[in-house]
Amino acid sequence: MKIDIHVHSSYSTDSEAKMEDVAQAAAREGIRVLCFTDHIDWDYPVDGLEFDFDVNRYETDIRRLRQKYRGKMDILMGVELGLQPHLGPRYAKLLAEHPFDFAIGSQHLVGNKDPYYPETFEGRSDAEVFREYFEDLYEDVKAFHDFDSLGHLDYVIRYGKRRAKEYSYRAFSDIIDEILKLLVRYNIALECNTCGLRKHLGFPNPHPAVLKRYRELGGTMVTIGSDAHKPAYLGYGFDEACGILRSCGFTHYVYFVKHEPRFVMIR
Ligand SMILES: [Zn+2]
Ligand SMILES: [Zn+2]
Repeated sequence: MKIDIHVHSSYSTDSEAKMEDVAQAAAREGIRVLCFTDHIDWDYPVDGLEFDFDVNRYETDIRRLRQKYRGKMDILMGVELGLQPHLGPRYAKLLAEHPFDFAIGSQHLVGNKDPYYPETFEGRSDAEVFREYFEDLYEDVKAFHDFDSLGHLDYVIRYGKRRAKEYSYRAFSDIIDEILKLLVRYNIALECNTCGLRKHLGFPNPHPAVLKRYRELGGTMVTIGSDAHKPAYLGYGFDEACGILRSCGFTHYVYFVKHEPRFVMIR
């Protein structure tokens, strides 16, 4: 069964994809469970860019699409929360006030900058920035852990000056292990984000060595998402992700309905 539970629409500031078009493309791709996870990234530090949306309107639009595709495809309401330690209480309130099925917690910052912008790496080695990112992520998960899956754990390595050349699980295993232990302790799934495959990193985010380590530390829940910001990328790399997860020791992946995990066997 093919699913995609990390998907953006025009409710995200960085996507122009109409929800209708996303749903139609997903159905065409044979996706059976589609979860919209638009960005809420409060206090995002770039001037003039705000990642926020009207959740009530979002809910109405998703309900309408859910009706339309009933019996063919399950459409779920999710969100991708941009993690920063001080936002925990506000995010907890947001999740309590709206009927989300699924919340991804993602860190898009290092220090107070998005590594997407090259100046984040200016005057520093890639490895230095990567380490700071993981240390921040550890603090984020320690401060707030009411979300269901940790998104693209090694997001930062997509943007290194030398891309992922200064990255390996081994080089950062001390801090990555601490993050993974928090996930296991708080029963948080780990996402296999296929965007890394699409961007020719040669592996998904996080690297399979990290997925494998999560399994070794007792993690059982993995989610799969394309992080598509355009309908054309829906379901990207799903079969490859399943193969990677299987090779890392997982027999199932999960998706969430009303924050409850549903296990699906990997075939
Ligand atoms: Zn993200
Ligand atoms: Zn995303």
